[in-house]
Amino acid sequence: MPTLSKRTQNFTDSVIRRMTRISNQYGAVNLSQGFPDFEPPRELLDRLAQVTREDFHQYSITWGARNFREALAAKQSRLMGRSINPDSEIVVTCGSTEAMMAAMMTVTNPGDKVIVFSPFYENYGADTILSGAEPIYVPLYPPEFNFNIDELEAAFKQHPKALILCNPSNPCGKVFTYDELKVIAGLAEKYDTFVITDEVYEHIVYKPYQHIYFASLPGMWDRTISCSSLSKTYSITGWRLGYIIAPEPVIEAAKKVHDFLTVGAAAPLQEAAVTGLRFGEDYYTELQAKYTEKRDLFLKGLDDIGISHTIPQGAYYILLDISEFGYASDLTFCETLARDVGVGAVPGSSFFREDVNHLIRLHFAKKNETLYEALNRLEHIRKKIAKQS
Ligand code: GLN
Repeated sequence: MPTLSKRTQNFTDSVIRRMTRISNQYGAVNLSQGFPDFEPPRELLDRLAQVTREDFHQYSITWGARNFREALAAKQSRLMGRSINPDSEIVVTCGSTEAMMAAMMTVTNPGDKVIVFSPFYENYGADTILSGAEPIYVPLYPPEFNFNIDELEAAFKQHPKALILCNPSNPCGKVFTYDELKVIAGLAEKYDTFVITDEVYEHIVYKPYQHIYFASLPGMWDRTISCSSLSKTYSITGWRLGYIIAPEPVIEAAKKVHDFLTVGAAAPLQEAAVTGLRFGEDYYTELQAKYTEKRDLFLKGLDDIGISHTIPQGAYYILLDISEFGYASDLTFCETLARDVGVGAVPGSSFFREDVNHLIRLHFAKKNETLYEALNRLEHIRKKIAKQS
């Protein structure tokens, strides 16, 4: 057989998705890959049922069905404090996974550098490799996961083409403050750099923290490529609906990249999702209350068991400290956890540039009963997982 491309050899399969397969194999409560086990809003499902009988079965316009883009522009204009043009400033993509990839391919040339904060969502590593870019990692320091301004500026001095900003952040749950965003904005301006955001958890933020759209900072619209999706906001991760919002010249190029990557997102799903995009403020308030309850329930359960953990300000992930078990490999620990305790988690090492082996990631986007079941199982963790000497 001829050899395969070098680029495919430079990254592994997704550890997050692999942990879902391992969880399923052992019948574990799967708190690894972040997706809900509760239903999407009824109104979306009802509309989806109707749409199957309507005329939405052929390609939509490649950069997104007009109805969807208009509803999205209305919603995001309200939130981002700027009138977004649905024709020239939006591309609808197959999830934010495609949005991020298309954004990277739109702004970088092979060999360009891109700043990535560590810990980071594993896709960014693969995105840089697939687009031929080279990551410069800047650490976020626990417990608040703050960055060091000098370290960030040192990265900017290497003349990166873009910085990737996941806010609220997966996996550490950080919500960047206005002051932190101002620092990033100042450096992006000084070194003439794009900022590619991943804001899929924009509506999952815990009081008193608040999500601030990077594009809404003074002067930042022109250099920000905002990526997000409907997956987490409406509990429809399988619908694969995401988007890029950016200035017209960026979108013009991104439309071409997107068109040749996927042609377009699923037309019937775009139409059904319009119902969600038109929800009033109440929906988002309730979503926040629902996730706050889950977060508090789960954190209390972990505290009762006595495992130390991060406290998320946003998103729905918790990093647990497993140092006491003395495992050299967090991947082996997660396999043991799925098999012997019956809970699926993601090894922390798949999110860190640094050599980190003592953290695992769990998520709490699950029904309360699922979370209680996971906590019941975790209660016996010290009996079921022997300490390694
Ligand atoms: N973003 C989710 C996570 O971090 C889901 C990842 C995925 O599989 N697309 O778990």
